[in-house]
Amino acid sequence: MLMRDLFYINGQWVATGAKEMIEVHDAGTGEVMGKVPAGGESDIDAAVRAARAAFDSWSQLPVAKRAEYLAKISAGLKQRAEETAKVIAQEVGMPIKLSGRIQAGLPVMIFGNYAKIAGEFQFEEKVGNSLVVRDPVGVVGAITPWNYPLHQIALKVAPALAAGCTVVLKPAEIAPFNAFILADVVHEVGLPPGVFNLVTGFGPVVGEALVRHPEVDMISFTGSTRAGKRVSEVAALMVKRVTLELGGKSASVILDDADLAAAVKGTVSNCYLNSGQTCTAFTRMLVPESKYAEARAIAAEVARTFTPGDPMSETSRLGPLSSRIQLERVRGFIIKGIEEGAELVTGGAEAPEGVAPGGYFVKPTVFGKVDPKSTIGQEEIFGPVLSIITYKDEDDAIRIANDTIYGLAGGVWSKDEARAQRVARRMRAGQIDINGGPYNINAPFGGFKQSGHGREAGRYGLEEFLEYKSLQLKAG
Ligand code: NAD
Repeated sequence: MLMRDLFYINGQWVATGAKEMIEVHDAGTGEVMGKVPAGGESDIDAAVRAARAAFDSWSQLPVAKRAEYLAKISAGLKQRAEETAKVIAQEVGMPIKLSGRIQAGLPVMIFGNYAKIAGEFQFEEKVGNSLVVRDPVGVVGAITPWNYPLHQIALKVAPALAAGCTVVLKPAEIAPFNAFILADVVHEVGLPPGVFNLVTGFGPVVGEALVRHPEVDMISFTGSTRAGKRVSEVAALMVKRVTLELGGKSASVILDDADLAAAVKGTVSNCYLNSGQTCTAFTRMLVPESKYAEARAIAAEVARTFTPGDPMSETSRLGPLSSRIQLERVRGFIIKGIEEGAELVTGGAEAPEGVAPGGYFVKPTVFGKVDPKSTIGQEEIFGPVLSIITYKDEDDAIRIANDTIYGLAGGVWSKDEARAQRVARRMRAGQIDINGGPYNINAPFGGFKQSGHGREAGRYGLEEFLEYKSLQLKAG
């Protein structure tokens, strides 16, 4: 049983004002794996004050010094990578092998990369008679989700610290232990007190207290569109800068000249990564009408290779969902899809066989002939559920791909790369993979429309934490 009952504030582990503990469940068994405190307004206030007090000296430290700390945090996380992978495999349910590579591996890379980016970034330039300098925005409130918990944290904390900001982190209550590992590492590397602070608790309580706090200059939020709207609303009262990384309903557009087997396999695998709990998941597979029968058969075959299994087993490909609420939500969507008349190709709402009965497992599911306007064609399900949608021609495919409230990601598959790029350019989303092009930690990541605004990763992510300031110099 993991028990963390202190918050990390002002460089120390301190007692909390929390009256309640939050139970964290092991996704694979449903059992309680540990507890963290449900903090309150006074904890947030203490953390924000510490961050404010630390801001002046941290922001004035030479950037090379800040970069050194980031490199040390990266090295510290690397040392704890095995533990991180295990903790997240339990909290989130991602199979241990993938958890090691993605959940524990990416944060090490992100902190290391920002050490490098900070060293190379141009913090000032001459424009006419002005010297344009980039100042850190100030105290940052970082609010993060549970699906790639430490990666989402790293994408905020690393660039914020590189920029010269100080941070109060409020991680997701479903997967908080990885954030404590980061706080341990921050403490070990001797980051100056108050530069990084950690408070856990429920979103509407501590999350909102952070957004409302007058000494917080910016909120960097990743989570659901529902909570993101609330964060925007509260932040607007103080004209606070907000970046929002929200939900998605990404389309994988398979053009008629694509390698169908590779495209369908790539789409299904992308959709099922982390049991479909990925904001960029290709949850809508768009295929030409003439290729539907073939695409459907390949999708069913690929889906069946994703046998649900214990996330702690080295051979599992599909873990459970992260929580009971998620399980009920996803099953509800599968039932809705059947009720709305989509063709159930494989899977379904019943619990799969051969897994721990208390775990939050769901069958890998594929729906065919999905009406693009139906619930499962429009809403983010956040489970291993693929919707196959047919289209008439290229224009129709682009119209369907763009016809949701979201615009986070997507994919295009074609033997003709120039054609794929043409289609990708017409898609209203922040990141489009061409023929399965891999994730790039230096490319801007973020959404159009209700998938949010602002960008993370690479130098674009750093720029979100900077203000412009112009110093007008007297000519001559
Ligand atoms: P969520 O919105 O329920 O919670 C996210 C975080 O916000 C948690 O820390 C939560 O405590 C906090 N929160 C909730 N209500 C709040 C409020 N009123 N004020 C302040 N904070 C509040 O989302 P989730 O269920 O943890 O995560 C899943 C969602 O996140 C999905 O919709 C997914 O698409 C999205 N997501 C987006 C990205 C991206 O980069 N675009 C990445 C990962 C996840």
